[in-house]
Amino acid sequence: MPKGLVVIDRERCKGCGLCIDACPFGVLGFSGEYNSSGYNVATMLHPEKCTGCAICAQMCPDVAIEVYRQQPDQPKEAV
Ligand code: SF4
Ligand code: SF4
Repeated sequence: MPKGLVVIDRERCKGCGLCIDACPFGVLGFSGEYNSSGYNVATMLHPEKCTGCAICAQMCPDVAIEVYRQQPDQPKEAV
């Protein structure tokens, strides 16, 4: 199974939680850290479970999520 990495732009995130609900592996959650607009920013709470499926990025209405996927024995690539 590929390994994923999610990068969330904390200033774009408005803390709606859609990505958290959408992740089939329970990777994401609220960080408890607030951006300059006062939103509780999403983060990877369980990065080891991320497959890089990119469902979270597709769900984000603010295009705040970038996903990278790494196949075993391959360099990391942007999704
Ligand atoms: S890429 Fe997939 S597994 Fe990783 S956090 Fe997003 S929805 Fe979850
Ligand atoms: S869907 Fe986007 S805006 Fe909403 S919590 Fe996730 S990263 Fe933030």
